[in-house]
Amino acid sequence: MSDDTDLAALARLIERARRAVVFTGAGISTESGIPDFRSPGGIWTKMAPIDFESFLASEAARRESWRRRFEADAVWRAAEPNRGHRAVATLVRRGTVSAVITQNIDGLHQASGIAAEQVIELHGNSTYAHCLDCAARYEIADLRPAFERDGSAPRCTRCDGFVKTATISFGQAMPAEPMRRAQEETLAADLFIVAGSSLVVYPAAGFPELAKRKGAVLAIVNREATHLDPVADVVVNRSIGDALGTVVGVN
Ligand SMILES: [Zn+2]
Repeated sequence: MSDDTDLAALARLIERARRAVVFTGAGISTESGIPDFRSPGGIWTKMAPIDFESFLASEAARRESWRRRFEADAVWRAAEPNRGHRAVATLVRRGTVSAVITQNIDGLHQASGIAAEQVIELHGNSTYAHCLDCAARYEIADLRPAFERDGSAPRCTRCDGFVKTATISFGQAMPAEPMRRAQEETLAADLFIVAGSSLVVYPAAGFPELAKRKGAVLAIVNREATHLDPVADVVVNRSIGDALGTVVGVN
């Protein structure tokens, strides 16, 4: 595309911003090889997600959930931050962006150098696990040998509770503290940048609406159109890495 007026407009908004928030979805991480679970042809069109109720109710569901997690482990471990993540990290380092709110569960923002305190994970994190009862943390790699030995889903060594990846499953309550912080950051932002989210998953997708309603400037960077494009101040329909990388000056 030779017409770069969209990128120039985004660059101007970023330059003017005093406190920006970046809201990221699957689109920023597909460029790192992380599959988009919800997209047409995505994982969840091939196998239904295991909801929280099933996980609690059934050892078979827990086993299947862990089988899938270990099966996908090579993909998770190989994924590295891409140009889009680096651009966001640069904006955080420069002080333009105060926080990154993410729907992603891959930990790639932290891997790109953003402090964990500045990454607000709305759907949790799949790169580690925790006990659902006592919250003890477990590393995925440490759980694998026992699973491969007897195929049973991991239990907490402290309290015998169910151990689950630290993600928010369907049917599981949104995490209170990240939701509170996301709202606080959204209300304080003068620029809200959506990067790689199609804005279909609620309540997460409510944050850009809230930002706009409270007077922030809204920029949407996504390959496909979203339902908020008509109210956005700038819409960039391009690859996230190319768009943000170009605008921020990061390779
Ligand atoms: Zn426990």
